[in-house]
Amino acid sequence: MSPKQLPAPGVDTYFPGHGDARYRVHRYELALDYRPGPNRLGGTARLSAVAGAEPLREFALDLADFRIGRILVDGRAAHYTHRAGKLRIRPAKALAAGAAFTVEVHYTGNPKPVRSQWGGLGWEELTDGALVASQPVGAPSWYPCNDRPADKASYQISITTPSPYTVIVGGRLLTRTTRASSTTWVYEQAAPTSSYLVTVSIGQYETLRVTDPAAGVEPLRRVPQTAYLPTPLMPRFTHDFGRQPQMMHLFEELFGPYPFGEYAVVVADEELDVPFEAQGVSTFGTNHLDGIRGSERLVAHELAHQWFGNSVTIADWRHIWLNEGFAKYAEWLWAERSGGRTAAQHAATAHAKLAALPQDLRLADPGRKLMFDDRLYERGGLTVHALRCALGEQAFFRMVKDWTAIHRHGVVGTADLVAHAGRYTDRRLDALLDAWLWRGPLPPLPVAP
Ligand SMILES: [Zn+2]
Repeated sequence: MSPKQLPAPGVDTYFPGHGDARYRVHRYELALDYRPGPNRLGGTARLSAVAGAEPLREFALDLADFRIGRILVDGRAAHYTHRAGKLRIRPAKALAAGAAFTVEVHYTGNPKPVRSQWGGLGWEELTDGALVASQPVGAPSWYPCNDRPADKASYQISITTPSPYTVIVGGRLLTRTTRASSTTWVYEQAAPTSSYLVTVSIGQYETLRVTDPAAGVEPLRRVPQTAYLPTPLMPRFTHDFGRQPQMMHLFEELFGPYPFGEYAVVVADEELDVPFEAQGVSTFGTNHLDGIRGSERLVAHELAHQWFGNSVTIADWRHIWLNEGFAKYAEWLWAERSGGRTAAQHAATAHAKLAALPQDLRLADPGRKLMFDDRLYERGGLTVHALRCALGEQAFFRMVKDWTAIHRHGVVGTADLVAHAGRYTDRRLDALLDAWLWRGPLPPLPVAP
């Protein structure tokens, strides 16, 4: 069953102001123009959507402070109000339950990050270009959307910008057309994508194919891997990301086929606190290249999110540990399989670290304030390790591979994983998982029997 056929889950408890569960969007077509100097973004967003079980007299989109030109619903001008990041639209005629409809929003303005407890989210102007890092609620900083992770849609994104700049958006580059001094880049992301996972990078970048130097280590199905980065960083990049093809190979072996058509890595011409994942793309900062693979665990972490988070997506934000726990564990698996410390050693280190910290984090519902807390990542990794120890090697890896296959391009919650894992053992996992997921105190370090 496709996620589109499931009943719409309610509004996210961590971000009740975001999203509208009364309808679903299945496709976004954005045709935008961006001028880096004045930081000016404008154009049209066309959404194809379906009303839920109730007729819609009005509905809402999330969009930050832009000037709205006009809004059409099914081609007819609609009434709207635009206040505090919420665009409330009243179509000329109410939409019937289950009816397909289109919304067209013409808008223009100076995009800026959405303020949050984690700093600015979304569209960010760089010294020379721009990037978009939206997790969790930054998407409305640059386009009108139904901003909730469960509402996944396909995207076609067209961006016109001065020709010296390269535009990177997740997905397949359909066309690149230069007219006068501007170039239009059109990308298609056919796979269902959450609004927070749509990214844009604009900069003066070199394009590099990432190929596998080691003969005999060929991915089962070659995933095209491309990098975009400032030219001077080329030598460091070649070394630091040199093992990414082997990583891709390992993760396909452990987690199943790479879920998208291609994988891109952007190294923005700026330092970034943390790298971040988007659909088919990961973005790093200049500080993540040091020429000695000092950030290689993050290369693994971001790649793993393509399976955990991007393909298998959380229904709402309280399940964030499903993304970060598996991505953290993927770091440990990469280390273990590439001649570094074993996952068990990493688990012991993480356990010792957590033992010395306050134990008031409930992994399966950490609350908005703690959803990106360091402890969530470490405890998430440990919980996956606890499953590995409880299930045993064979059953654990079969469980993980089946998980990404069954929920490929879908939406999940913690209860789904608990039920799923239970099918791979005769042991009862309830007490073990209850302690890791729902209680504060740190359970003992899991060890393989
Ligand atoms: Zn992560």
